[in-house]
Amino acid sequence: TISNHSDYLATLNEPQREAVLYGNGPLMIIAGAGSGKTRVLTYRIAHLIENGVDPFRILSLTFTNKASGEMRKRIEGAVGTEARNIWMGTFHSVFAKILRIEARYLGYTSDFSIYDTDDSKSLLRSIIKEFNLDDKTYKANVVFNRISGAKNRLISADDYINNPVIQADDDSAKMKEMGRLYKTYVTRCFQANAMDFDDLLYNTNILFRDFPDVLYKYQHKFQHVMVDEFQDTNVSQYLITRKLSAVHRNIVVVGDDAQSIYAFRGANIENILNFAKDFPDVQTIKLEQNYRSTSNIVNAANSVIARNKAQLEKKTFTANEEGSLIDVIKAGSDNEEGRLVATAIFEEKMQKALRNENFAILYRTNAQSRSFEEALRKLGIKYRIIGGQSFYQRKEIKDLLAYLRFTVNQRDEEAFKRIINLPKRGIGDATVAKIAVTASENNLPIWDVVASIGKYASGRTIAPIEQFATLIKSFKILIEEGKDAYDVSAHIAKSSGILRELYEDKTVEGLSRYENVQELLNGIKEFVDGEANEDKTLSAFLQSVSLLTNADEPDDNNDNDRVTMMTIHSAKGLEFRNVFIVGLEEDLFPSQMMLESRQDLEEERRLFYVAITRAEKKLSFSYAESRYQWGRIKMCEPSRFLLEVDNRFLNVSKMVQNAIERDTTPPITAFARNLVQRKPAVPNVNNATTSHVPSTDFVPSDTFELVEGDKVEHLKFGFGEVVKMDINGTDRKATVKFNIVGEKTLLLSFAKLRIL
Ligand code: ATP
Ligand code: MG
Repeated sequence: TISNHSDYLATLNEPQREAVLYGNGPLMIIAGAGSGKTRVLTYRIAHLIENGVDPFRILSLTFTNKASGEMRKRIEGAVGTEARNIWMGTFHSVFAKILRIEARYLGYTSDFSIYDTDDSKSLLRSIIKEFNLDDKTYKANVVFNRISGAKNRLISADDYINNPVIQADDDSAKMKEMGRLYKTYVTRCFQANAMDFDDLLYNTNILFRDFPDVLYKYQHKFQHVMVDEFQDTNVSQYLITRKLSAVHRNIVVVGDDAQSIYAFRGANIENILNFAKDFPDVQTIKLEQNYRSTSNIVNAANSVIARNKAQLEKKTFTANEEGSLIDVIKAGSDNEEGRLVATAIFEEKMQKALRNENFAILYRTNAQSRSFEEALRKLGIKYRIIGGQSFYQRKEIKDLLAYLRFTVNQRDEEAFKRIINLPKRGIGDATVAKIAVTASENNLPIWDVVASIGKYASGRTIAPIEQFATLIKSFKILIEEGKDAYDVSAHIAKSSGILRELYEDKTVEGLSRYENVQELLNGIKEFVDGEANEDKTLSAFLQSVSLLTNADEPDDNNDNDRVTMMTIHSAKGLEFRNVFIVGLEEDLFPSQMMLESRQDLEEERRLFYVAITRAEKKLSFSYAESRYQWGRIKMCEPSRFLLEVDNRFLNVSKMVQNAIERDTTPPITAFARNLVQRKPAVPNVNNATTSHVPSTDFVPSDTFELVEGDKVEHLKFGFGEVVKMDINGTDRKATVKFNIVGEKTLLLSFAKLRIL
């Protein structure tokens, strides 16, 4: 931690110090991974506060809540609790805060709900059904992505409907009704007093566009604006930051174009290029020294990213030690990959007396975590998975949260749908849908229909709905009495019947669900007791929790010594002593689904670059030759990215050994041979796509005359020389001395060789 001014200035190099001390005006730092960009922002904020800038007037936008939490802690170390007043967080959380304050301008109340992706898709499914559309053509997922794409480009539903180009595109996708769906979706969210994630950006833009007074207020308020990971801001985010800094013009953006990995989400590398146009007097500072990684790792990363055509020119070097080579672990199957990686972690831990938290396993997709989990568990190594099924995505947690949401905002359609029949009250789906549609058609809050259900329905369903309404009323009273988030939630968990139902379920899963709900209640208690939170209402708690990202799992107290597993996307900005990049196979990484163009390939390569540059001391790659996918075994080829890493930085001995230990090894690929021979040259890009030698070259050696002294290549054992022939028995044999594995006696009717 940093304790006083001179202390931290002394830990900066010259250009870093220049950036920290930089006066007023726009500043841009585009620099390679590990060069101290985030450190510069952190120290700059501390420096500003020390020099009298009011923390309330500093806006700092980061990529994850975790990142901003860490920054805040560091700054607190330097300037004390004042650091809590900085406006710091993700784009989404900061804008949600502004939107809560200004909600009325847009026709929302400050208690608006935030729909997560599941809520949004569930609402879309309802609408698609109400429209009687074919849900195979109109998949909720696809519809959602199209709407999201439009919002991120600031295209409203009406613009969407009136835009002939978009219409033509929908026509060709056989989704003529997209515009109408978009419009209805937006209306329903609005009627539910709910915003989805994209709305948090979209509505902030509308707010600043249509209410100049509001914009003026924030423009004057924020004297300093900082953006970390600038390369991944999308147009909508950029517009807001640009507007907010238009008055004071003190905007500092830091980023690395080589780490832009969200182009698919509308993040736009052009922002970097446009920044200079929008702020012609911008100063740029270069940071070229990497402090994070060994020189082998830095150089390997540079050798990879050099293949991208689309990039800004910059250098990265390091004064750090050379470090060890990058291990390449080759496994026969995904399960074996899990075992080999877990064993490698175990051994490295023992040899170097490391902690679990020194290790990270990074993969392309969440689904890959399973084999590593199993293997780590067998070795008794604790781990944590970031992402995947996050705590807040679990059913029981979402159920209780839905009760809390509906108590705070009785227009919340999705929360209503989740809880109306939970625990079972004998209310059918059709009734629920009818209530939602009735509310929407009459432009009434769901609650108004529920609370006077007698007006809208008749028959058996009335009684249970009235009971539900009475229950919710009793919850609302607690809030009106001014009870804090914990008291209200604990009461709701009990009185709603959620806790009882879980308690009565005595299965292992039931027990763990019960514990999860308790854990959520503990979290709410912590929120209420936390000094940093002034507002202790349920509404404030819900706001804090609805924007947690996958990277923000609740920390197990005192139990943080765990191996971290996560996707490369969520590893951005982080660093670990030892990093394993796993699943380096064609179609998996680079992902087949993302590969439609050169731009896509370059984005995948940037992702690989991000992964490599997370490692401080030791990096390992692994790949499997076969893997279960959709219930079938699929044969895999090593990733082209493995070929792209300059050989000089790779250690292949482990790989060769592993290949030989098992007898089921499929052919050594051209790639592997390349490694074994240690060709000094950087592999040619053109070779990268043809990594396999056609196996027809290798034929059972019985089919040709083989003599002692022949130089041969074996599919599995690589290169060697025939030292002895035994052709007298029925089983004709040859003994070959292989370069790597030594002497082997082979049956000629089976052994696949070729003569060189
Ligand atoms: P990324 O592009 O991955 O986000 P970054 O440029 O933000 O990286 P930082 O995370 O700020 O880099 O710094 C990388 C590591 O180097 C951190 O551990 C940081 O504390 C350390 N570091 C940065 N500058 C210095 C310095 N001048 N002296 C010592 N350590 C430094
Ligand atoms: Mg950083």
